[in-house]
This record gives sequence, C-alpha cells and structure tokens, in this order.
Amino acid sequence: MSQQIRNFCIIAHIDHGKSTLADRMLEITETIRKGEKEQVLDRMDLEQERWITIKLTPARMQWKWHELNLIDTPWHVDFQYEVSRSLAAVEGVILLVDASQGIQAQTLSVLYQAIDQWLDIIPVLNKIDLPAANPERVWKELEHLIGIDSDQIIAVSGKTGQNVEQVLDAIIERIDAPDVFNERNQQKFRTKQMLHTQEPDSLQTKQKLTRALIFDSVFDQYKWVVSYIKVLSWSIQKDTPLRLVYSQNSIKPVEVGHFSPDYVADKTISAGQIGYIVTWEKSVRDAQIGDTIIGNYTYRKQPGEEDKLKTRVVPWFKKTKPYVFAGIYPIDSSDYDKLKDSLEKLSLNDSSIEYSMEDSKALWFGFRCGFLGMLHMDIIKERLYREYDLDTIFTIPTVVYLVKSKQLNIDSIKTGKNIADLFTSGLYLQLCTILGIPKEEYTNLSEGQFIEKYSEQLRPRLVVTSWSDMIEQWMAEEIYEPIADVEIVGPEEFAGNIMELCQEYRWTLQHMDYMDQNRVVWRYTLPMWEIIVDFYDRLKSSTKGYATMNYEFKEYRMDDMTKLDIFINNERVEALSWIVHTDKAYQHGRSICEKLKELIPKHMFSIPIQAGIWNKMIARETISAMRKDVIAKCYGWDVSRKRKLLQKQKEWKKKMKALGSVNVPSDVFMKMVQR
Ligand code: GDP
Ligand code: MG
Repeated sequence: MSQQIRNFCIIAHIDHGKSTLADRMLEITETIRKGEKEQVLDRMDLEQERWITIKLTPARMQWKWHELNLIDTPWHVDFQYEVSRSLAAVEGVILLVDASQGIQAQTLSVLYQAIDQWLDIIPVLNKIDLPAANPERVWKELEHLIGIDSDQIIAVSGKTGQNVEQVLDAIIERIDAPDVFNERNQQKFRTKQMLHTQEPDSLQTKQKLTRALIFDSVFDQYKWVVSYIKVLSWSIQKDTPLRLVYSQNSIKPVEVGHFSPDYVADKTISAGQIGYIVTWEKSVRDAQIGDTIIGNYTYRKQPGEEDKLKTRVVPWFKKTKPYVFAGIYPIDSSDYDKLKDSLEKLSLNDSSIEYSMEDSKALWFGFRCGFLGMLHMDIIKERLYREYDLDTIFTIPTVVYLVKSKQLNIDSIKTGKNIADLFTSGLYLQLCTILGIPKEEYTNLSEGQFIEKYSEQLRPRLVVTSWSDMIEQWMAEEIYEPIADVEIVGPEEFAGNIMELCQEYRWTLQHMDYMDQNRVVWRYTLPMWEIIVDFYDRLKSSTKGYATMNYEFKEYRMDDMTKLDIFINNERVEALSWIVHTDKAYQHGRSICEKLKELIPKHMFSIPIQAGIWNKMIARETISAMRKDVIAKCYGWDVSRKRKLLQKQKEWKKKMKALGSVNVPSDVFMKMVQR
C-alpha cells in the first residue's frame, strides 16, 4: 500500500506561486473543481493576511493510481522550527522558484535542511509565462546550488497550468515511497542513542510499534485540537489508546481522517499516510508539534522506562523556544484580568507563546512574554487588539542573555531564571559549551544529577529575559549575548550597501559565494538583538528590495556589554533600560535621550532626560516646559470648543501612559527601537 503513497512539501519564497501551483494541482487531480475557489489552501484569518501562505492546509490527491499528500512549509524565519517538522513528515520537496526572481535567502535555508535530511528534490521554475522571466539564469543558479542537471528542472506556469502535469508525474517518479525503516531512512527514525546502544529488540519488532509524528497542531472551534500526523509504522484507528512520548499524555482519537483539503473522516490512517486525529484536547500544548505518538501497549512505567521511550521518538525533536521577550501591559491597568484571560486563550492555539507574570514600577502589572520573533510578536499584539479588544503596551523587545554574577546565590531575579530553570529554557547545551562541560554529560546525567554535579559552576549563572531585570553592572562578571548566522542573497551591485549596513551592527563577514555572475550569497554573523529589530527593513531599503535574508541562532558569545539606565524627570525608568556594547554606550545614550525628547510631549514643567551607566550620567536632554501663553489661549472658549478639546484630551489620554510624573505615548517603547 505504502508503495503508492508520495508525501511532499512545496518550498518557495513568498509570492513565488506556491498557492497558485497547489490550486492547479488540486484541479488537475480533480480534488477540487476547476475555478471553484482561488487559493484553496490558504486559511482566511489574520495569520493568512499577514504571512500569506505560511500555513497551507495539507491536501490528499489521487494521480495515476497514487496517493499524493501535499503538506505545508511555512516560509517565515520566525517559524523555522516548523519547517523541520514538515520536512520530517515527507520524502520529497518541490523547490519552486519564480523564474523572474531567482532563489531567495529563506528558500535557500529550507533547501539546505531538505538536503540535510536526504529528501528528494524536484526543482521547478514558475511563472515562465511572464515576459520578465529569465529561466536560463535561474536554471544556472539551481545548477550551481544543488548541482542538479538542467534536464531535471521543470519549467511551469502555475497561472496557465502549463507543464503542471509533469510536476505531478515527477512526484511519482522521483520521490520515494514512504517506507518504514529502510536503510536510508533509518537515520530519520532513530536517535543517536538508539544507534549507539545495543537495544535488545530488533528492527523487526520495532516495526510493530505504532508510531506517528505530529507535524502540526491547530485549534478548531468545533473539533478543538486537531493534530496533523504522519504515521511512520503500523496504523492509527479511532478509539485506540495512544501515548505521546514527550508530553507523556495519554490520548484517544475520537476521529481520524485525511485532508481533501477539508477534514474527511476515515476508519484508519496507515503507515506512510498523512492525516489528522481529533482527541478532545483543549490546548495545542497537549499535542505539541514534533512529539511522537506511540501505541499505548508499549508503555509500562518502570524505572528508566521514560528514557527508553525517548529513544523511540522521531529524532530532531526540538521544543520551540521563544527567543524574543517583551513585557505586555494593558494601557488601562484595570484590564489586567482581561489580558490574563486573553493570553490564556491565545495560548490554546499557539503553543509557542510563553508568558509569566511581571510587574514594573512604571507600568504596574503585566506579563513577560516570549515570542519566536518580531513577526510573531506583532501578530500577538494585533490579535490581542482585534480578537480581544485590548489596547496593550509592549515594552522594548529583548533577546535572552546569559550572565555570570560575581555574587553567588542570586537565587532568582524577577523575570529571569535561575539554574534549575535553565533546563526547561533549552539553554543548557549553550551553557555546557560556555562552562567547558562535555555535552555528553548532559545527555548521560539526569537533570538532578547534572545540577548537583555542577552546582558550583552553575550557581552564579543567570538567564535574563528582560533588560530591566539585568543585575547591576558591578555584580555582572560576564555577559553573553546570542549571535546569529545571517545569510543574505542579492545582486552584487549592492555589495557596498550591504557591507555598510552590516558595519553598523557589529558584524563579521564569514563567507561569500557567487550563485551566478550577478547574484551573491553573503554569510555574516551578527548579534541577534541587532537583527531582530530592524535589520531586515533596512536591508530591504538599502537594496531597493532586491536582497533577502535568513538568520539562525548560532551561539552565545561573551562581549563587553553594559547596562544603560534611563532617567526621566530624575527617576530611573526600568522599562527603558538597555544592554548595549560598551563601545556604543555613549552614542546610544545620546540617541535615546534625543528620541525621548521628540516622543514625550511638553508638560507644565521642564523634564530632564538622562542616560547613565552605573549611575554615571553620559547623556542629557531637557524637554522645556509648556509656554504660558499656550495655556492662556484655552480661556474664553465657547462650550462646544471646550467639549471638543476635552474629547480630544480623552482620546489622547488613552494613548498615553504615566511614567511617574510624566506622560509618555504608550507606543514609546516600540518607537525606541526604530531608527
Ligand atoms: P505564494 O505566496 O507562494 O503562495 O504565491 P501565490 O500563489 O499567492 O502567487 C503570488 C502571485 O504570483 C499572485 O499574484 C499570482 O497570481 C502570481 N502567480 C503565481 N503563479 C504565476 C504564474 O505562473 N504566472 C504568473 N504570471 N503569475 C503567477
Ligand atoms: Mg499564497
């Protein structure tokens, strides 16, 4: 049976025509009627509006006695981890490239992942009907990049449907059928541990274990949590008790089925197939993406059994880790409970949101929230507004810093974490590297043993997710910041502009490579924080939109960092603290003061704004007091004008937030990071 199954993803940059091609495939295979609907696979909601085809609904098609399962690969860098999930569920990919554009940075990074996982790759050039299409050039790029023969490349038009049938044929011919545990796939299914330890049960018996990978989990109004799965061995039926290896939840599907692209209930999902299960879970947290489902009968809780179970998961399970953090506060402090409630609801269908209570002297009560990136953060802010009618303040986003304190026993900082929490924060491996502890120690020891053995080294280490929480400068011995690998793809003529831009961001050029005579791939390392804020926008504007980029966390690196405090009207505003490179502290302090001077409106009194390092002031601006005659003008107005003024004031108040004695616009934090 599984010989007739083909599972694949389409890898494409945004607007290169993924949805259009998928539409044509669905029509040609008569999965949907021609012209029935456009962009059938795009879900219509905010996410769809914002990141277009990031979530493509899976679909099952029939073509020449084969069952083809198409699943999604989100393209945005914030959702990279999902890409590896999608790739884990397929045997091949269609690499779709707009023939008038060429391959882009994000596509490149997904492509590398696909190559890494030994997937079959079908390169397809799209939009050949366009006069601006330059198939030969893109052809060469592909040849250069993946060393593929040009006769392997299929040129199509998703718009007119030209040659799309060839793509369907190629899927059958060139992509492997999903078989369980063949020689080449072994690696995909077996963790390193499994390969290294002699397990008594042979491959034969393992084959009998029901095993499935959750590659996506969504929240549906009627069905609640729906998990998208690929069955790796055996089969899954309705009402069969199952277990999740990582979360250790027991589940029992009340419905199983496939996508057409709507949900279609079936009796069973067999090995090799892609489908969905409904389990009546209320939160996607209960069915985390990347978890492995196994048959319940394999589970007998004995000492050490859990660890053994973990050897049965599909490898490269990596928990999603937010690495951008910001405080969220209601503009109206009395909305705190509403905010709490809304975040809880949001997290039911977005398991990557992580939040905990936070209070701030200036902003009162709110939450410290972790996001996958800036786009993700933006989406949450907008959803809070649209779906929950909440006006919120997001404080300046920060990345996660690792700090070594000079004092032992700083057992906890307000929003940061102490060592015990490091293990859940996913930073332990980084820490091992920094401390010079062999990584095997972490894998071999249990968390408790690890903490006990290395407690002396671990105790002074802190994880800081909020600048306002950074310990005082004199207590910090070392500050480590996250560094990213950045890949930029663009025309050579912009090399100078790109270089100039990177120089502003403490960059290191690693490597540069010509894809063809004109287009270049540059590889830089840059501090993560500098990238997430506005690097992409600035790259776009300095290359007229021709360059694209992708980035990935690389490592933690110690640098000469310092805490910059901001004082408004002689009061330190924690929520405005920064961590900056010492070389940049003066310049940065000055520019912050200048900016605040612009952003904060005049008051009845003059307001000093200062920046300081460890209580030494390094910059100062003053907002002068409102002139008397401006106020005088307000007298003697008629009633309607006064009312208008009051109304205006009311609206204005809504947008303002009091920091001590000074009113600041509530978007001041986000504005601070824009240049
Ligand atoms: P996606 O973001 O990758 O899903 O891209 P879409 O499928 O939404 O396509 C982006 C744009 O390109 C849309 O305006 C499509 O109409 C257009 N498009 C897609 N395929 C073709 C094609 O083969 N030829 C032409 N001329 N336009 C196309
Ligand atoms: Mg689309």
